[in-house]
Amino acid sequence: MTSDCLFCRIVAGELPAAIVHETATTLAFRDIAPKAPVHVLVVPKAHHADVAELAKADPALAGDVLAAAAAVADLEGLVGSGFRVIFNTGEHGGQDVFHVHAHVLGGRRLGPMVS
Ligand code: C5P
Repeated sequence: MTSDCLFCRIVAGELPAAIVHETATTLAFRDIAPKAPVHVLVVPKAHHADVAELAKADPALAGDVLAAAAAVADLEGLVGSGFRVIFNTGEHGGQDVFHVHAHVLGGRRLGPMVS
């Protein structure tokens, strides 16, 4: 837990979030500014800055995040139509919150991935 981290504070229950899925090691909640009909963020409960740091420090936890993203897609009814999982990473990757999070997006045909 990092007290100045937004997503650590959501994990700790200090800030509200619309939670859609939880495991012992992960939490998934709806993005406050959805870019698609379904837009859910999946975070590890432990603080890691980005996916590169997470994969190096705790590969099993990185797997937990991916498994949770797939579970969210299933819960949200996206498996048949398809969906996208994105980890924005670092400045050029457009990352704004430096607690690693997978964006799970779907519910419509998504446009080109790079803009
Ligand atoms: O990948 P990036 O770091 O840019 O994504 C951060 C995401 O966190 C944004 O999509 C933003 O809408 C979301 N967010 C949120 N709840 C907050 C602050 C940001 O869902 N309180």
